[in-house]
Amino acid sequence: MNNFHCKSCGSRNGALILDLGVQPLANNLLFESNLSDGGEPKHPLRLAVCLDCRLMQLPEIIPPTKLFSEYIYFSSFSDAMLQHAKSATDEYIKDFDLGKECQVVEVASNDGYMLQYFVRSGIPALGIEPAVNIAEEARKKGVETVSEFFTLNLADRLATEKGQADLILGNNVFAHVPDTNDFVAAIAALLKKQGRVVLEFPWGHEMIRNLEFDTIYHEHVFYFNLTPLMPLFARHGLEIIKVQKLPIHGGSLRVFASHAGQFAVDPSVKVTLEQEADEGVKTADYYTDFAESVLMLKDELVKLLADLKSNGSSIAAYGASAKGSTLLNFCGVGLETLDFVADRSTYKQGRYTPGRHLPIVSPEDLLEKQPDYALLLTWNFADEILKQQEEFRKRGGKFIIPLPKARVV
Ligand SMILES: [Zn+2]
Repeated sequence: MNNFHCKSCGSRNGALILDLGVQPLANNLLFESNLSDGGEPKHPLRLAVCLDCRLMQLPEIIPPTKLFSEYIYFSSFSDAMLQHAKSATDEYIKDFDLGKECQVVEVASNDGYMLQYFVRSGIPALGIEPAVNIAEEARKKGVETVSEFFTLNLADRLATEKGQADLILGNNVFAHVPDTNDFVAAIAALLKKQGRVVLEFPWGHEMIRNLEFDTIYHEHVFYFNLTPLMPLFARHGLEIIKVQKLPIHGGSLRVFASHAGQFAVDPSVKVTLEQEADEGVKTADYYTDFAESVLMLKDELVKLLADLKSNGSSIAAYGASAKGSTLLNFCGVGLETLDFVADRSTYKQGRYTPGRHLPIVSPEDLLEKQPDYALLLTWNFADEILKQQEEFRKRGGKFIIPLPKARVV
């Protein structure tokens, strides 16, 4: 691949895995007044892999300031996310013996969905959230929040002004930050000698195995396996000491790290590295098989929707998510097939999806219009949504779950 430059190890040796075409920003929902503007900006969306450290990444980067100025994903809108945050908080307080004298920092703390539980337990917590409107929501919950990007510069300043942290958390942010060396260096700078860091991110391996190509969008710069993380952390004096596999977001990794040599390394690290090696992380087939299967899945899904449509069925979509944007734009499915997309977020209702410009309506509208099928774009919350939309199904509506193989439920 020409012009490849690994954002972790600096290698020029990279291979293209999958080309998803030229796509709009997946979270850039439009207002009706934008629709006649002549279209939103679009950028190439391609997945590549570094052939030296095996880090999967997007070769083309959009500046984060463009992506996050009005980031519309409020974590608290999902019951499953809140439950996940609450139980993780309880676990960390107990396992790490956290108390009033400790300092917890969360990077990309969103609306305080997680730190609120530390605050309620009397543990000092500081959020870092660059989106100004979302940081304000966190402050309303009593969570002190700095509205800046997490960089080495900021970490040095916080370490001086507020002291280093006993625990640094980062849920679904690590894979978003293009300067990954600066991010890991910032963690090292802000972490106490005996402190711990816990990062959660979608596991690249699950994306590959379950054909979750729709997790690829411009905000997700990296698709992390554990294998390429080992040299990245070591470069900054950190060490991965434990790994947990989580079902959230279609399969995530929770990685625990510390300054090197501070804690014993749990066997889960070796086990996960061996699993990745067995599955072929270092072979070309691992990546080319994924790409071929994704192209087949796309053809099958497009055919299923076309067949239903030609039989006279009405079809809508559910979940105006970023992954939905990738899926619809990659598959080229829009208003000719889908009447609208329903979403629970009042923030999204009344807007239009990027690229395909489907109108976003409320779940009540889904019931009122009662299409025959609803394509579930937020399949990662399938259990929760199927329960919420029981009435739609009782009245004869069916959901189409697109991945890893299109099926009707
Ligand atoms: Zn590399």
